[in-house]
Amino acid sequence: MMAASAIRASRWAHQGQERRIRVSFEFFPPKTEEMEKQLWESVERLAPLAPNFVSVTYGAGGSTRERTHATVKRIINETRLTPAAHLTCVDATREQVDDVIRGYQAAGVRHIVALRGDPAGGIGVPYAPHPGGYENAADLVGGIKRITDMEVSVSAYPEKHPDSATVEADIDMLKAKVDAGASRAITQFFFENDLYFRYLDRVRARGINIPIVPGILPVQNFKQAKNFAERTGASVPRWLAERFEGLDDDLATRKLIAAAVAAEQVIDLVDHGVTDFHFYTMNRADLVYAVCHLLGLRPEARVAA
Ligand code: FAD
Repeated sequence: MMAASAIRASRWAHQGQERRIRVSFEFFPPKTEEMEKQLWESVERLAPLAPNFVSVTYGAGGSTRERTHATVKRIINETRLTPAAHLTCVDATREQVDDVIRGYQAAGVRHIVALRGDPAGGIGVPYAPHPGGYENAADLVGGIKRITDMEVSVSAYPEKHPDSATVEADIDMLKAKVDAGASRAITQFFFENDLYFRYLDRVRARGINIPIVPGILPVQNFKQAKNFAERTGASVPRWLAERFEGLDDDLATRKLIAAAVAAEQVIDLVDHGVTDFHFYTMNRADLVYAVCHLLGLRPEARVAA
């Protein structure tokens, strides 16, 4: 199987360049000095691949939010990358969120990933909008667009958001976000490409024509990925669990398997015409760099951080 993958991979590398593959990378704001070092090493490693944009997630609580702002500003000041700042509606009035939007605008941000966010009490607690705040992501997209004509990306859920009663209700929300001005959706991660293609068909049938960019999670740590998946409503197929079975204490093999799994997934997506990919990097560069190399991306010295 590995030999076949290797042969296919080199073929895709050529096709990747012909098809102008575009990637984006998602990072989270670091909490400690050590994490900060790891983040910037990853940014430096991935920057020469000239991503379309790099996004920085937004958390609950003042200090986490400050870290997002600081990370976005550092990307603007110290790199030639285009940042996309995530923003949520959680625990803030409209005025407070609007101030953040204006602050981003003043700092040079031109792209926001607009989200409702998870309940302040944690996933599983029913979501209640802040009494004076934006109600959901569609409402937030409208708020951003009233202030500035920035590019706005939003989330999409091939396996349905856990709060949503049906896939149709979920797609209705996506349609509301597009109608409010969103021009790109980035999906929650998934491991079975059929889920993405089925979702794409339903989204297109609903008259939604913006790019639905697959979110790819290279499995750096299977237990952690499984835990994320449980919280976000993404399914973890049995074959994936079996591939990582018995490797808890074998980091080197785990990395090789993770690279093979991610490579297989993106190669199949390219095979089906997908050209844009959003990578959940978890602030680590090695697997993402390898998968991008397979996609045909090569460093461009002029874009280096
Ligand atoms: P929406 O698009 O507003 O809603 C998602 C679905 O839930 C819709 O189907 C909607 O109909 C349904 N729904 C919403 N509210 C209700 C309700 N009250 N009752 C019933 N159904 C409801 N989280 C962060 O905190 N920070 C981040 O930076 C971040 N980045 C993300 C990036 C991506 C690409 C993705 C996919 C997710 C990200 N998240 C982030 C997670 C996201 O905030 C959560 O999934 C959150 O629970 C939903 O936010 P949303 O914008 O996707 O919601």
